Amino acid sequence: MTVPEQATPSAARLLAPNPSPMTLEGTNTWILRDPGEPGCVVVDPGPLDDGHLDRIVGAGPVELIVLTHSHLDHAEAAPRLAEMTGAPVVARDPAWCRGVPPLQPGRYDAVVGVEWLTILTPGHSSDSVCLLLPGDRALLTGDTVLGRGTTVVSHPDGRLADYLDSLRRLRDLAGTDVDTLLPGHGPIVEKPLVVLDFYLAHRRERLDQVRAAVVAGDTTAAAVVRRVYADVDPVLWPAAELSVQAQLDYLAAKE
Ligand SMILES: [Zn+2]
Repeated sequence: MTVPEQATPSAARLLAPNPSPMTLEGTNTWILRDPGEPGCVVVDPGPLDDGHLDRIVGAGPVELIVLTHSHLDHAEAAPRLAEMTGAPVVARDPAWCRGVPPLQPGRYDAVVGVEWLTILTPGHSSDSVCLLLPGDRALLTGDTVLGRGTTVVSHPDGRLADYLDSLRRLRDLAGTDVDTLLPGHGPIVEKPLVVLDFYLAHRRERLDQVRAAVVAGDTTAAAVVRRVYADVDPVLWPAAELSVQAQLDYLAAKE
């Protein structure tokens, strides 16, 4: 994809060239633009890749860079893009911000006519946010909800109790204010309620499986993964181990 693909009236997608089992087709970089304005906001510039950076700059002028969270497949290119364009960087984590204060929950007015509501959604990582575009009834979800499959709770930074709370809040929002999810990886989601219900059901199911594995005598996250994630490609087992560790912590705190 060499030119941005329009997904909603104000959001277009540029796919970064970093496909993998964890990143699906690659990272979705989102270009937000008020149709009446020349300048744009870039959400998640992705990995450091010259070709991808050139395409982002070509979609500009870039007035602001936003990060849904600071994992490198989303954030790595942000400092370089800031240098190339002079645009500030805003994120939940102050360490990634340049020239502007960190994201707070609530309304954010970018100078170029783009506005969103920042929703704090810790769980995948502690600094994850989702951005609601009210005019588009669309929600940028980063890695909190993906376009296909499920995501990882990145223990120890990500916590399952936070993640479940975030999913429940997004589910409420999807029932009233959101028709489309614009994820950090994978295709656009047109049935947000169905997907969020699936995410919540999947987490409950995995928790039941992990609880049963512990009862059956598994004592390490790796052993639980071998039993519970037998249906998942082993290439994903190291990531699954983080999710299992998060689930074991969650169960230990409850019981
Ligand atoms: Zn991530």
